[in-house]
Amino acid sequence: MKNLSILFLMLCAANAVAEKKLNIVATLPDYAAIARAIGGDRVTVTNLAKGTEDPHFVDARPSFVRVLNKADLLIEGGAELEIGWLPPLVAGARNKAILTGAPGHLTLAQYIRLLEVPTTPVDRSMGDVHPIGNPHFNLDPLNGKPMSAAIADKLSALAPANASFFRANQEKFVQELDRKFAEWKKVMDPLRGTKVVTYHKSFDYFIERFGLELAGTLEPKPGIEPSPTHINALIPQAKAEGVKYIIIEPNRPRRTPEYVADAVGAKLVLLPGLVGGAEHVDNYFELFDYDIAQITRGR
Ligand SMILES: [Zn+2]
Repeated sequence: MKNLSILFLMLCAANAVAEKKLNIVATLPDYAAIARAIGGDRVTVTNLAKGTEDPHFVDARPSFVRVLNKADLLIEGGAELEIGWLPPLVAGARNKAILTGAPGHLTLAQYIRLLEVPTTPVDRSMGDVHPIGNPHFNLDPLNGKPMSAAIADKLSALAPANASFFRANQEKFVQELDRKFAEWKKVMDPLRGTKVVTYHKSFDYFIERFGLELAGTLEPKPGIEPSPTHINALIPQAKAEGVKYIIIEPNRPRRTPEYVADAVGAKLVLLPGLVGGAEHVDNYFELFDYDIAQITRGR
């Protein structure tokens, strides 16, 4: 009898170990990095966009449909960030589990206080790619808290047997984030009030969190390439305002940013906007370690 109950316990343990790993697909490497931190060895995580890509305009590779077909969970940013490339892939994947509204779908924007939510309707025909608010909320490190909490809740709902494991990992993630944030804030504090120009409206959450000031963007509107008229108006304005940095992602064209930096007397800084956007930027913490080191270097 005793042997039988031991055998039973062993079978249970074997069963728990053999429980299928949740198969997670995240649109951006940042969401994937957080999902890995929470899910540990109980999940497999794939990201669709690379950190070197523009998250609005991702190159949809045929493998994406296969990956989405096998997913238990799709994590997207939402706020129309992926609207230009994700919907046809999800439709093509024929996987009911990950459709919007299904248990295997998570839209992170629902858990975030979005910046720049328009109070009047935006004319989409003008090509503005931020018509319902700024979707680049991954760049406020403290948004790691609601993002990781939403992911932990979702993973726990999909795999309740692992709920306490996910919860413990989420708490660890938030503790590390708080510790790192105190360091980052200390390094960034002397830059408070510094005026910057960015290429796209992608660093607004970072700028707000660390007390920088956005004096303008090289794009006349989010998603619209810089025009001579816009640049010629921006340069004297940025000069008059004493803009110190022109911030662009490493994948942006360099000619216009270099020209503007030169004309304004500002420093051109390359800051990845996503995990994987530069070498050794392999997780959410390393993204801010890297970007903050870049912007404060040689100050
Ligand atoms: Zn954008």
